[in-house]
Amino acid sequence: MLDIHSHKHFGEEVIHNISPKEWNSFYERYPQQRFSVGIHPWHIQQKYLKEELSLLSDIVAHKQVFAVGETGLDKHCGVSLDLQMKSLETHVELSENNAKPLILHCVAAYNELQLLKRRLQPTQHWILHGFRGNRILAQQLLSDGFYFSIGWNFNVETIKMLPDDKLYFETDEADVSVEEVYAKAMTCRK
Ligand SMILES: [Zn+2]
Repeated sequence: MLDIHSHKHFGEEVIHNISPKEWNSFYERYPQQRFSVGIHPWHIQQKYLKEELSLLSDIVAHKQVFAVGETGLDKHCGVSLDLQMKSLETHVELSENNAKPLILHCVAAYNELQLLKRRLQPTQHWILHGFRGNRILAQQLLSDGFYFSIGWNFNVETIKMLPDDKLYFETDEADVSVEEVYAKAMTCRK
């Protein structure tokens, strides 16, 4: 079973998440690994953003890069929302131009994300990673065509209503396997 987003695990069934700066050393060590590459909103630094985005644009087309991200919006971090939005929009462009899905981190900015998706009308899957929102929020996001990646912690009521074809599973920072995450989620779906 595919682990769509992990910072810890490696292996055939894992998409290992790294930043553009990490690409060279990780690809050298793990040439068979599937990666997602992006600039986490927490780690945006204004003076390096342009350089890092251009580095990202050189990497994204690589065959071992399976997704763009994680990127996204987080109102509870110290980085200005303008800067986060600028970074996110470039990730979206790279996702569309390279036909690779987008892995999204979102904290307290779902409205902004929904408006952006409506404006840009992307063709690629926009996957909300580590989704823990309630079912009302999930319903709104479903109607905007978002996909959901579920990790070890999730909202039990939400997992009951999400359709199979909108669901991915991940381990993120957790030490559990994706099979354990899946098994936990499935117990709630019964
Ligand atoms: Zn993550």
